[in-house]
Amino acid sequence: MPYRRSLHCLDYILAGLLALASLGVQGGVDWAAMEQRAADDPIKVREETLKLSRELQANGDKQEELAALRLLAITSAQMEHYKDLDVVLARGLMLARELNQAGSESTLLSLRGRLLAQSGKQAEAMRDLDAAISLAERNKLQRELASALQEKARLLQGESRFNEVLPLLFRAHTLFDSLKLTADVSGVLNDIGNAYSTLGDEGQAVDYYRRSLVGLNPAQDRHALSVRQYNIGVSLLRLERWQEAGDTLREALAHSEALNDATGVAYARFRLGAIDLKQGRTEAALQQLDLALQEFRRTHLQDMLFGTQLARAEALSGRDVRAAMAAMAEAESIFKQNPTAPRKLMLHKTSSLVYKQQSRYREALAELEAWIQANKANDEQFNRKLTTEMQARFDSERKEADNALLKSERRRQAAELEAGKSRRLLLLLGLLCSVIAIAALAFVLLRQVRQKQRYAALAMHDELTGAPNRRHILAYGQRQLQACREEGLRFSLAVIDLDHFKSINDRYGHEVGDTVLRRFARVCQPTLRRGDRLGRVGGEEWLLIMPATHSSEVPLVFERMRQHLQAQHEDLPAELIIAFSMGAAEAQPGESFERLMRRADAAMYRAKQQGRDQLVIARPGETS
Ligand code: GH3
Ligand code: MG
Ligand code: MG
Repeated sequence: MPYRRSLHCLDYILAGLLALASLGVQGGVDWAAMEQRAADDPIKVREETLKLSRELQANGDKQEELAALRLLAITSAQMEHYKDLDVVLARGLMLARELNQAGSESTLLSLRGRLLAQSGKQAEAMRDLDAAISLAERNKLQRELASALQEKARLLQGESRFNEVLPLLFRAHTLFDSLKLTADVSGVLNDIGNAYSTLGDEGQAVDYYRRSLVGLNPAQDRHALSVRQYNIGVSLLRLERWQEAGDTLREALAHSEALNDATGVAYARFRLGAIDLKQGRTEAALQQLDLALQEFRRTHLQDMLFGTQLARAEALSGRDVRAAMAAMAEAESIFKQNPTAPRKLMLHKTSSLVYKQQSRYREALAELEAWIQANKANDEQFNRKLTTEMQARFDSERKEADNALLKSERRRQAAELEAGKSRRLLLLLGLLCSVIAIAALAFVLLRQVRQKQRYAALAMHDELTGAPNRRHILAYGQRQLQACREEGLRFSLAVIDLDHFKSINDRYGHEVGDTVLRRFARVCQPTLRRGDRLGRVGGEEWLLIMPATHSSEVPLVFERMRQHLQAQHEDLPAELIIAFSMGAAEAQPGESFERLMRRADAAMYRAKQQGRDQLVIARPGETS
C-alpha cells in the first residue's frame, strides 16, 4: 500500500535547482528563494507559481515561463497534486527543449516519470527516468543526475526490485553529499528509510529517518519535517510502539494543519485512526478515518482510500453492518482496478473479520482460507523478496562499509602523515638538542682545557711579565744542566738584577716600574738563542739559563741584551735608562746547580760593587 512517505519523498529531489535560480534572478523573480520557501510551505509557493506561470505565458517570456513551470511541477508533485500536472510537464518539456535547457529538461523528465508511475505506466516511467539520467550524465549535471537516480530508485522499489534500490540511493546520497546539498541529502536518507521500511526493517528505517532530520531547519523546512515525522510515526506504529507512534503522528498532524496541508493531515489521521482501532477506541478511530476518507476522495488517492475503507469496515463491523459492507465494497472495487498481492491479502483479512463480527462464520472461514492461500503465495513471494533483499542489503552495506573504510583509511593516512611529520620534527629537535648538548659539552670541555692550560701557564709563568717564573726557570735550569752533562756539553747560567730599580719606582711610580719589568722580559727574550731561557726569580731579579754555552760566549749575550734594551723606549720617559748587572758562571764538573747559582749570584754582586751596568763572570771554585 502507498504511504505518505513514498509519495512525498520526492519533495527534495527537484527542489532548489540551480539552473532555475539563475533564470529567475534575470527575470526579476527570485526563483531560488521561492524554491527554498517551497521546502517550508509548498502549498503557498505552488499557488504563487501557478499565477506567475500564467502571467509569464501571457507576456511571452519563455525563459521565465519555463522557470515557473518547473517550480510549479515540483511543488505539485510535492503536494501530490497530480491533476493537470501532465499539461504543465508537457509545456515545460517543450520549452526546455526549445531553449536548450538540459537541467530543466532532466528535472521535468524525472517528474513525468513519477507521474507515469503513479498512473501505473511503469515502462513509460522508466523510459523517462533513464532519459533524465543520460541527459544529466551527458551534460555533467551532478544534481539532476542524483535526483533522477533517486526517482528511479523509487520506481524500482514500487516494482519490488530491491536489489537495485539501495545502490541507486547510496549513489545519489554520495553525489548530493559531495555537492553539500543538505536538503537533498536529507531527502535521500528519507528514501533509504522508506526502502528499509518496505523491506520490513522498521528499526533501520527509523534510524535513517532520524538521520534525515539532520540539517533541516524547523523554521524553514516545516513541510519536510512534517513528512519525516509522519514516516517515523508509521515505523514506530509498525514496531507496535503505540505511544511513541501516536505522539509523533500527532506532531506531524499539527505541522500539516499549520501548513494547510490537507493531504498531510489526512495521512496522519488515517494512521492515528489505525492506532485508535488497535487500542479499542473505535469511536475515536472512526472520527479520524472519516476525516481522512473525505480528503482521499477529494484527491483521488486510491491506495489511501483502499486502506482507509478497510480500516473503517473493521471499525464499523461491530456497530453498523451496512456501513461496514459499503466500505468493504468500495475497497473491493479499488482492488479490482489494480489487484495487487498486498491489497488482496488485506482485503481477505478484513473481510474475514467483518463476517465474523456479523456471525457469518462460513463466509468468515472462506475469507480466512483465502487469506491463508494468499499469504502463502505472498510468503513465497516475500521469501523471494527476502533473498534479493539480503543481496541488496549485503551489497549496499558492503559499499557503505567500503566507503567508511575508505574514509577511515584516508583519516589514518592523514594521521600517519601528521605523525610522520611530528616524528621527523621530533627527530630533528632531538638531533638539534644533541648538537646543542654536544656543542655545550665541547664548549665546557674546551673551556676546562683552556683553563687548565691557563692554570698550567700561570703555574709556569710570571703573572706580570709573562716570563717563566721562579719555580719553572729553576726546574728548567736543573733539567738542562743534567742534560748537558749527559751530552758532555758546557752549561752556563747568569743572575741578573736591574740597577737602581728602587729609584725608578720612587721617581716615576710603581706603574712605570712594572712597565720596565715587562719591557725587560719582552726585549731580552728575542735576543736569546733557542734553548736559552730567561725567568723572573723575584722582584727585579732574573735567571738566564744557557745550555751548551761556554762562559766565554756570555759577554756576547750580555751585550745584545744591553743594546736592545737601550734602543726600546716608546712608552717610557725619554731620560729613563734600563740597566742591569749580570753575574755569570759556567758549570764545573760535579758542581751542583745550587752551588753554580751561588757563584753566579756572587759574580752579580761583584758587578754591582764595580759600578753596575756590567757583566762579571765567576771564576771556577769562587763563591763570594
Ligand atoms: P741595586 O739593585 O742597583 O743595588 O738598586 P735597587 O734599587 O735595585 O735596590 P733593591 O734591590 O734593594 O731594590 C729592589 C726594589 O725593587 C725594591 C722593590 O720595591 C722593587 N720591586 C721589587 N719587586 C717589584 C715589582 O714587582 N714591581 C716594582 N715596580 N718594583 C718592585
Ligand atoms: Mg735587587
Ligand atoms: Mg736592583
